[in-house]
Amino acid sequence: MDSVMFDVLLTESERRVRDEVRTFVRTKVDPDLIIRMDGNEQEYPYDFIKTASKANLLGLRFPKAFAGRGLNWVSEMLAIEEIGVLGIALGCAYSLPSIVGESIDKFGTKDQKKAYLAPTLRGEKICAEGLTEPRGGSDFFGTITSAVPQGDHFVINGEKRFVAGGIGADYFLIYAKTNTKAPPHKSLSAFLVDRNMGVEVDEHYSLMGCRGMGAARIVLKDIEVPKDNLIGQLDGATDIFNAMMVPERLTSAAGAIGLGRTALDLAIRYAARREAFGHTISRYEGVSFKIADCATALDAARGLVYRAARLADEGLPSRKAVSQAKLFATEACYQTVSDAMQILGGIGYTDVYPIERLFRDARLATIWTGSSEIMRLIIQSDIFKEVLKAPRGEKRDIELDTPGASKTVEKVYRADPDQYRKAEE
Ligand SMILES: Cc1cc2nc3c(=O)[nH]c(=O)nc-3n(C[C@H](O)[C@H](O)[C@H](O)COP(=O)(O)OP(=O)(O)OC[C@H]3O[C@@H](n4cnc5c(N)ncnc54)[C@H](O)[C@@H]3O)c2cc1C
Repeated sequence: MDSVMFDVLLTESERRVRDEVRTFVRTKVDPDLIIRMDGNEQEYPYDFIKTASKANLLGLRFPKAFAGRGLNWVSEMLAIEEIGVLGIALGCAYSLPSIVGESIDKFGTKDQKKAYLAPTLRGEKICAEGLTEPRGGSDFFGTITSAVPQGDHFVINGEKRFVAGGIGADYFLIYAKTNTKAPPHKSLSAFLVDRNMGVEVDEHYSLMGCRGMGAARIVLKDIEVPKDNLIGQLDGATDIFNAMMVPERLTSAAGAIGLGRTALDLAIRYAARREAFGHTISRYEGVSFKIADCATALDAARGLVYRAARLADEGLPSRKAVSQAKLFATEACYQTVSDAMQILGGIGYTDVYPIERLFRDARLATIWTGSSEIMRLIIQSDIFKEVLKAPRGEKRDIELDTPGASKTVEKVYRADPDQYRKAEE
């Protein structure tokens, strides 16, 4: 149940990276770490990040000059699927340099790259991102954390919650309102805020799963951030947010596939040896068809992730493809873990097998980094724009705007819009 059948879609170098990370996971990660994290005995996986950075595995796609490897997005997604086998908490710790790094690599100055990106990829600085506020996470552009210019710095006030990695972080990527008069999409800016600038960090909530990744509440009270720590343009955070959502959502998707794969693997092995009514349960279609469906869904999810990653590699617009990958992969992951638990029966509900832990992890995947509802919102919006070149709800003459595929439908079915209109009158 792994990505080897996808080799036909991968280059030699991409396969090598996947195999390298698979070996890393098998040989370098202490299984006790996962247990300690789940048991709240470890507040942040520092050692894991150190080990991964020593193997030069953080932020694979970033330039070598800043401690990356200069690989492509597909390679990075292959790596994250392998790390995802370990669960969401470690997958998240591994992905954050890629997510925060995107904003610095794409929009940061050379000094910011030197001071933040390179040390992050070398495992010397831990990063985290603060978008979600107590007021809400889905409505990102409703951000109320404020940054007010004062001399050579900004004064930031606000609160962010559920900041993954926050407990261990040396610095935070913070979005704040810098323009109270402009429309929401032109009102926010992004900042690199060092923890030692006075950020208050605490572990405010006890989590259902994904423990040990240091999810924190952070409070910013009159924090003075030098103007040099603004990333990109003032009031220009929309572009940064859009760029960051590519790794944010793709890493969630790829990691979820790894997690689903783990659950499915456990379920297949269990079904092949557990007996009921004189046969192994794998003989019953009620069981084996679940396995068929989950394997198919995970493969389809992987296909969506690769497509989105290839679009990103080509520098092509990928918002809809990324959202489809995130939506489908995280839902497939959750369904797979749930079905795996069903296949294991009662013992699946205990902590004898890791299924219950994977189940608690998987539940987060469809909520964070943009919930399934928000993914659907983006997908439908882009579809209506693509087909009608108008937002949903806005009436348009289809014959004026339809792209090629719709023209084919018109031709094949003699679907003359005028005829339709007349028939409907
Ligand atoms: C463990 C954990 C780690 C996290 N890590 C981070 C992190 O590192 N950084 C960070 O910034 N955030 C992080 N988050 C926050 C996460 O991204 C948000 O919880 C998520 O985006 C949803 O925001 P919300 O919880 O405020 O829910 P809300 O935005 O209040 O939404 C509540 C519900 O309403 C739905 N909804 C909202 N608007 C619509 C709409 N227009 N149409 C249909 N449905 C809608 C949502 O899908 C959801 O089901 C983390 C969360 C958790 C639990």
